[in-house]
Amino acid sequence: MKPFIRTDQYNFIRVQTRKLVNGHSTAKDADVIKALESMVLESILSMFLNISDEQKQVILPVIEIHDKEMAEKYFAQLKQYVIPFDVSEQAVRKLFPKVKKLSVPHLVKLDLRDIVYLSWFDNSISKKFIVSSHENKLSGIYGSFTGINQKGICSLCNSIGEVGMFLAEIKGKEQGTFTKRGNYICSDSQKCNENLTSLEKLTDFVEHLKG
Ligand SMILES: [Zn+2]
Repeated sequence: MKPFIRTDQYNFIRVQTRKLVNGHSTAKDADVIKALESMVLESILSMFLNISDEQKQVILPVIEIHDKEMAEKYFAQLKQYVIPFDVSEQAVRKLFPKVKKLSVPHLVKLDLRDIVYLSWFDNSISKKFIVSSHENKLSGIYGSFTGINQKGICSLCNSIGEVGMFLAEIKGKEQGTFTKRGNYICSDSQKCNENLTSLEKLTDFVEHLKG
């Protein structure tokens, strides 16, 4: 069977499973557990638009999870069905034609199944890069990034953590003019990737900042 789970969906399943594990450690009532199991399963399945019976069989064992150990086994099994982020160095270069001496991260060193969006900071030009994928099409933005040394809500993953202001320059209506657009996002993009359980905010963010 081909991979069919997006990374953000995999993260969503992890969050739902945590609810199950917590439920088993706190609730004593069998009916409460049963209700929780069906709620978790329903919310996971509702993420997939056209799920086949075969794919369903991969997901279903989630309701048998009682503790962290079982959860980890389940995730190890599930990982093989996660779709790797589809990117190449060449494709990244195409996204930023105006950036001279673009430094693209070593993609072979990454597990692309962990990536919802690719991000890196280029120290030599002090810019942060973000590459995301929507409906099999890559988009790229870059801009300045300034940490604020306090916690805040990330506008990509919606979690509270160390954030900074990402600002991109966008061409104005008149030729030669620019405006800046941006928002607070996680300083640690690896953590941000782990927190992402849907693509909606990320896609909106990138579209908005592309101008
Ligand atoms: Zn984030």
